Amino acid sequence: MILSSGFDGNIYVLKDGDNVVLIDTGTGLFVSDIYRLVESLGLRKDSIRKVILTHVHIDHSGGLPKIVKDISPKVCVYEGEAQYIESGKGSVILSTMMGVSFPPTKVDVRLKDGEIMEIGKREFKVMNTPGHTAGSICLFDEENGILFSGDTVFPDGAFGRVDFPTGDPDALVRSIKMLSHLDVKHLFPGHMNAVLNEGKKHIELAARCAEMFL
Ligand SMILES: [Zn+2]
Repeated sequence: MILSSGFDGNIYVLKDGDNVVLIDTGTGLFVSDIYRLVESLGLRKDSIRKVILTHVHIDHSGGLPKIVKDISPKVCVYEGEAQYIESGKGSVILSTMMGVSFPPTKVDVRLKDGEIMEIGKREFKVMNTPGHTAGSICLFDEENGILFSGDTVFPDGAFGRVDFPTGDPDALVRSIKMLSHLDVKHLFPGHMNAVLNEGKKHIELAARCAEMFL
């Protein structure tokens, strides 16, 4: 894990045998940190075979064009958001804020709700969790209780903003409630620290907070 600093999102580097799978890429300011982390696992940076985006906001997708240019991994984006990556629009608001340009980037795999992705020996279910953006996804490994939650839900009762394009407060409440019924041990969010062993408790708190405030 590369913990986000400032505006950046968290980046997850998953070792899958001799390959590496990334979940999110940050704004692009820390791509060299990703490569260093991959090398610290005893692998070359071109072992990055797959990049999965939890959603297309620039603080999660901004590193993608450079990684694609350097290494050409398979780019996996939820079917409802792939158009933003391919058109280069990303989230216009966030792109402008960061002054980041986003060259159109080809999406190789359009992820579908409910599909299973194999990463290493683990199986992750793709779950569309609208609210922060309409096409946000979480990745859930039911057997091991591991949830990558993007910007849908964070630790300590926090949750994603709903005031960006395609944001929807009611949908976010529904999505977090749905996640709160899962047996989540370990929560790996798109910002803030990871939670080990007590993920479910944090998601239940976020469900109550979201219902109260949204
Ligand atoms: Zn976001």
